[in-house]
Amino acid sequence: MKVEHLASKEEDEKRGTVKVVNGRYKPSGLFHYISLNTPIKDENGTLMGITNPRDMTYIHSYGGEAVFFEGLGKGKLIASRCDNPDCVTKGSIYMPFRIHCPDCLAKNTPVDITDRARGGNVHSFMITERTGAFNTLPTPIKFVNVEFEGVCTILMGALAVGEPKMDMKVTPIFRTGDPQYIITDMLWVPVGTPADQLPEHYTF
Ligand SMILES: [Zn+2]
Repeated sequence: MKVEHLASKEEDEKRGTVKVVNGRYKPSGLFHYISLNTPIKDENGTLMGITNPRDMTYIHSYGGEAVFFEGLGKGKLIASRCDNPDCVTKGSIYMPFRIHCPDCLAKNTPVDITDRARGGNVHSFMITERTGAFNTLPTPIKFVNVEFEGVCTILMGALAVGEPKMDMKVTPIFRTGDPQYIITDMLWVPVGTPADQLPEHYTF
Protein backbone atom coordinates (compact mmCIF):
# COMPACT_ATOMS: atom_id res chain seq x y z
CA MET A 1 0.00 0.00 0.00
CA LYS A 2 1.24 3.43 -0.89
CA VAL A 3 0.53 6.32 1.42
CA GLU A 4 1.71 9.72 0.35
CA HIS A 5 0.84 13.33 0.69
CA LEU A 6 -2.31 14.13 -1.29
CA ALA A 7 -1.17 17.51 -2.52
CA SER A 8 -0.46 16.72 -6.14
CA LYS A 9 -2.30 18.78 -8.73
CA GLU A 10 -4.53 15.83 -9.57
CA GLU A 11 -5.47 15.32 -5.95
CA ASP A 12 -5.92 19.03 -5.44
CA GLU A 13 -8.55 19.05 -8.16
CA LYS A 14 -10.51 16.51 -6.10
CA ARG A 15 -10.64 18.95 -3.18
CA GLY A 16 -14.07 19.03 -1.65
CA THR A 17 -16.69 21.43 -2.92
CA VAL A 18 -20.22 22.03 -1.67
CA LYS A 19 -23.40 22.84 -3.54
CA VAL A 20 -26.82 23.65 -2.15
CA VAL A 21 -29.55 21.34 -3.43
CA ASN A 22 -33.10 21.70 -2.12
CA GLY A 23 -31.84 23.91 0.70
CA ARG A 24 -29.25 21.37 1.87
CA TYR A 25 -25.48 21.19 1.61
CA LYS A 26 -24.33 18.55 -0.89
CA PRO A 27 -20.57 17.94 -0.46
CA SER A 28 -18.57 16.20 -3.16
CA GLY A 29 -14.86 15.42 -3.49
CA LEU A 30 -12.22 14.96 -0.81
CA PHE A 31 -12.62 16.55 2.61
CA HIS A 32 -9.93 14.65 4.55
CA TYR A 33 -6.28 14.20 3.65
CA ILE A 34 -3.50 12.23 5.26
CA SER A 35 0.21 12.84 4.84
CA LEU A 36 3.30 10.78 5.58
CA ASN A 37 4.16 10.68 9.25
CA THR A 38 7.56 11.47 10.72
CA PRO A 39 9.28 9.69 13.61
CA ILE A 40 9.91 11.43 16.93
CA LYS A 41 13.19 10.29 18.45
CA ASP A 42 15.13 11.16 21.56
CA GLU A 43 18.80 12.27 21.66
CA ASN A 44 19.94 8.65 21.34
CA GLY A 45 17.82 7.96 18.29
CA THR A 46 15.29 5.83 20.18
CA LEU A 47 11.77 6.01 18.79
CA MET A 48 9.45 7.98 21.08
CA GLY A 49 6.44 8.46 18.79
CA ILE A 50 5.31 9.80 15.45
CA THR A 51 3.65 12.87 14.03
CA ASN A 52 0.30 12.23 12.38
CA PRO A 53 -0.25 14.97 9.78
CA ARG A 54 -3.93 15.34 8.97
CA ASP A 55 -5.64 17.96 6.87
CA MET A 56 -9.33 18.61 6.55
CA THR A 57 -11.66 20.96 4.72
CA TYR A 58 -14.00 22.69 7.12
CA ILE A 59 -17.47 23.63 5.84
CA HIS A 60 -18.19 27.08 7.23
CA SER A 61 -21.85 28.09 6.97
CA TYR A 62 -22.37 31.88 6.87
CA GLY A 63 -26.11 31.71 7.41
CA GLY A 64 -27.57 35.18 7.94
CA GLU A 65 -24.12 36.80 7.65
CA ALA A 66 -23.69 35.74 4.00
CA VAL A 67 -25.02 39.09 2.78
CA PHE A 68 -22.11 40.83 4.56
CA PHE A 69 -19.39 38.65 3.01
CA GLU A 70 -20.98 38.78 -0.43
CA GLY A 71 -21.10 42.58 -0.19
CA LEU A 72 -17.34 42.89 0.41
CA GLY A 73 -16.52 41.37 -2.96
CA LYS A 74 -18.85 43.91 -4.58
CA GLY A 75 -17.22 46.85 -2.83
CA LYS A 76 -20.03 47.27 -0.31
CA LEU A 77 -19.97 47.35 3.47
CA ILE A 78 -23.28 45.90 4.67
CA ALA A 79 -24.26 46.60 8.28
CA SER A 80 -27.50 45.61 10.01
CA ARG A 81 -30.21 47.67 11.72
CA CYS A 82 -33.02 46.87 14.14
CA ASP A 83 -36.31 48.02 12.63
CA ASN A 84 -38.58 46.50 15.26
CA PRO A 85 -41.06 49.28 16.28
CA ASP A 86 -41.43 47.71 19.72
CA CYS A 87 -37.67 47.71 20.44
CA VAL A 88 -36.25 50.35 22.82
CA THR A 89 -33.10 50.59 20.65
CA LYS A 90 -34.96 50.64 17.30
CA GLY A 91 -32.84 52.17 14.54
CA SER A 92 -29.50 51.05 16.01
CA ILE A 93 -27.00 50.13 13.31
CA TYR A 94 -24.49 47.35 13.92
CA MET A 95 -21.10 46.89 12.30
CA PRO A 96 -19.82 44.12 12.68
CA PHE A 97 -22.99 42.75 11.09
CA ARG A 98 -25.34 41.26 13.68
CA ILE A 99 -28.03 38.96 12.35
CA HIS A 100 -30.29 39.69 15.31
CA CYS A 101 -30.83 42.73 17.53
CA PRO A 102 -29.11 42.11 20.89
CA ASP A 103 -31.93 43.92 22.72
CA CYS A 104 -35.14 42.51 21.21
CA LEU A 105 -33.72 39.48 19.30
CA ALA A 106 -35.71 40.39 16.17
CA LYS A 107 -34.01 39.82 12.83
CA ASN A 108 -32.09 42.92 11.74
CA THR A 109 -32.36 44.59 8.32
CA PRO A 110 -29.20 44.72 6.15
CA VAL A 111 -28.16 48.32 5.38
CA ASP A 112 -25.42 49.57 3.07
CA ILE A 113 -23.03 51.84 5.05
CA THR A 114 -20.24 52.01 2.45
CA ASP A 115 -20.50 55.80 2.05
CA ARG A 116 -20.63 56.31 5.80
CA ALA A 117 -17.52 54.15 6.21
CA ARG A 118 -15.47 56.39 3.89
CA GLY A 119 -13.80 58.72 6.35
CA GLY A 120 -14.24 56.42 9.34
CA ASN A 121 -12.34 57.42 12.47
CA VAL A 122 -9.59 55.34 14.09
CA HIS A 123 -10.79 54.98 17.68
CA SER A 124 -7.76 52.92 18.67
CA PHE A 125 -5.21 50.60 17.10
CA MET A 126 -2.67 47.91 17.86
CA ILE A 127 0.30 46.49 16.03
CA THR A 128 1.17 42.82 16.36
CA GLU A 129 3.99 40.66 15.04
CA ARG A 130 2.36 37.32 15.78
CA THR A 131 -1.18 36.19 15.05
CA GLY A 132 -2.97 32.88 14.95
CA ALA A 133 -2.32 30.07 12.48
CA PHE A 134 -2.66 30.67 8.73
CA ASN A 135 -2.18 34.42 8.90
CA THR A 136 -2.29 35.86 5.38
CA LEU A 137 -1.63 39.52 6.25
CA PRO A 138 1.86 41.02 6.05
CA THR A 139 3.46 41.44 9.48
CA PRO A 140 3.55 43.51 11.55
CA ILE A 141 -0.22 43.63 11.25
CA LYS A 142 -1.69 47.06 11.96
CA PHE A 143 -5.15 46.49 13.41
CA VAL A 144 -7.39 49.54 13.54
CA ASN A 145 -10.65 49.95 15.43
CA VAL A 146 -12.82 52.06 13.18
CA GLU A 147 -15.86 54.04 14.33
CA PHE A 148 -18.55 55.31 11.97
CA GLU A 149 -21.03 58.16 12.30
CA GLY A 150 -24.36 56.83 13.56
CA VAL A 151 -23.16 53.25 14.12
CA CYS A 152 -23.25 52.03 17.72
CA THR A 153 -20.44 49.47 17.48
CA ILE A 154 -16.78 49.61 16.39
CA LEU A 155 -15.23 47.46 13.69
CA MET A 156 -11.72 46.02 13.80
CA GLY A 157 -9.82 45.71 10.54
CA ALA A 158 -6.30 45.85 9.16
CA LEU A 159 -4.61 48.98 7.84
CA ALA A 160 -3.01 48.14 4.47
CA VAL A 161 -1.11 51.38 3.81
CA GLY A 162 0.74 53.76 6.16
CA GLU A 163 1.01 53.89 9.93
CA PRO A 164 -2.02 53.99 12.25
CA LYS A 165 -2.63 57.06 14.40
CA MET A 166 -5.35 57.94 16.88
CA ASP A 167 -8.29 59.73 15.21
CA MET A 168 -6.86 59.35 11.71
CA LYS A 169 -9.47 59.17 8.94
CA VAL A 170 -9.57 55.92 7.00
CA THR A 171 -11.52 54.53 4.09
CA PRO A 172 -12.28 50.90 3.24
CA ILE A 173 -10.85 49.07 0.24
CA PHE A 174 -12.37 45.87 -1.11
CA ARG A 175 -10.95 42.83 -2.86
CA THR A 176 -13.34 43.20 -5.78
CA GLY A 177 -10.86 41.77 -8.30
CA ASP A 178 -10.65 38.34 -6.73
CA PRO A 179 -13.02 38.04 -3.73
CA GLN A 180 -12.32 35.29 -1.22
CA TYR A 181 -15.53 35.87 0.80
CA ILE A 182 -13.60 36.32 4.04
CA ILE A 183 -13.03 39.34 6.26
CA THR A 184 -9.71 40.24 4.59
CA ASP A 185 -11.72 41.08 1.45
CA MET A 186 -11.93 44.44 3.24
CA LEU A 187 -8.89 46.40 4.43
CA TRP A 188 -8.39 50.05 5.43
CA VAL A 189 -6.19 52.83 4.07
CA PRO A 190 -5.76 56.46 5.14
CA VAL A 191 -8.14 58.89 3.41
CA GLY A 192 -6.33 60.35 0.40
CA THR A 193 -4.34 57.20 -0.44
CA PRO A 194 -3.81 57.09 -4.24
CA ALA A 195 -5.34 54.12 -6.05
CA ASP A 196 -1.94 52.94 -7.30
CA GLN A 197 -0.84 52.25 -3.70
CA LEU A 198 -3.59 49.72 -3.01
CA PRO A 199 -2.67 46.03 -2.69
CA GLU A 200 -3.27 43.85 -5.74
CA HIS A 201 -6.96 42.95 -6.40
CA TYR A 202 -8.25 45.78 -4.13
CA THR A 203 -10.33 48.81 -5.14
CA PHE A 204 -12.04 51.66 -3.27
ZN1 LIG B 1 -34.22 45.56 18.51
